[in-house]
Amino acid sequence: MAAPKDYYKTLEVDEKANAQTIKQAYRRLARKYHPDVSGKAGEDKFKEINEAYEVLSDPARRAEYDRLRRTYAERQSRRHGTGFERVAHEWSTDDLGSFGSFFEDLFTGARDSTRPSTRSMPEESVRITLEQVAQGTTVALTVNDVRECVVCHGHDPDCPRCGGLGQVAEPKRFDVVVPPGIEDGAVLKVGDHARLKIEVAPHPRFHRQKDNVVGRLMVSVPVAAVGGEVPVKPLIGDEMMVKIPRHTNHGRMLRLKGLGLPHRGTSVRGDMLLEVNLRFPEPFTPEDDALYQQLLGHHQEAGGEIRAPR
Ligand SMILES: [Zn+2]
Repeated sequence: MAAPKDYYKTLEVDEKANAQTIKQAYRRLARKYHPDVSGKAGEDKFKEINEAYEVLSDPARRAEYDRLRRTYAERQSRRHGTGFERVAHEWSTDDLGSFGSFFEDLFTGARDSTRPSTRSMPEESVRITLEQVAQGTTVALTVNDVRECVVCHGHDPDCPRCGGLGQVAEPKRFDVVVPPGIEDGAVLKVGDHARLKIEVAPHPRFHRQKDNVVGRLMVSVPVAAVGGEVPVKPLIGDEMMVKIPRHTNHGRMLRLKGLGLPHRGTSVRGDMLLEVNLRFPEPFTPEDDALYQQLLGHHQEAGGEIRAPR
């Protein structure tokens, strides 16, 4: 049988760490080992971290875990005259007595690999903004987690904890790390038993095209004619001035490099693409009319060529 896991060690925290410290450690490690960041190599570690956090973030389960750890260490030190560390390498189900099943579930995760799961995978969905896609976010999710009753393991019809059902449902809170650049419709695994579907809300100004964000940029006719600058508010960050080249036609695409979305799991960013839409300045005065009349006098070309729609 596999050696028992030390959840405190997994989360790199002290046994006396408070909830806040544990949460911070979890978030830091979850980011570091997220499969989208560290790839296949981080997957197991990521799973371990989540498993540890599942127990240590729940006061009731943590207390139970601590108590059983102490009980086990005491038994072992009576037997071997040594502490918990040594026990870790001399693990055997026989030593565990009535705690065996609980520890087995807790320490090995064997249920997932060797036993067919009888539970469904509840799927929740959450809507995030395009800004959150750009920067990544954390979503708090409470999942009703059904677990085997640790008091009776389903063997006591009069069990006060589960009422004889052998299972207890507990609401469990997860802080799900949503990596930057996540796709609309992507599904993240939450703990061992739940999934979170990510929906990206439509954005009022930008459409997403893979890692690029695409919008229409209103530019006044005089600026498009002689060139100039217009203030632009990108998806993320402060307003900036964008140069409009002289003789910019309606429909011209301007590409602003690196102002799009991060490519998931990398530091590469897409671009912001702006389609120039020409507009007459408002209000349109009699002086404007006169000036355009003058322009018309210079150009006999009136257009008229038909092209296919874009
Ligand atoms: Zn029970």
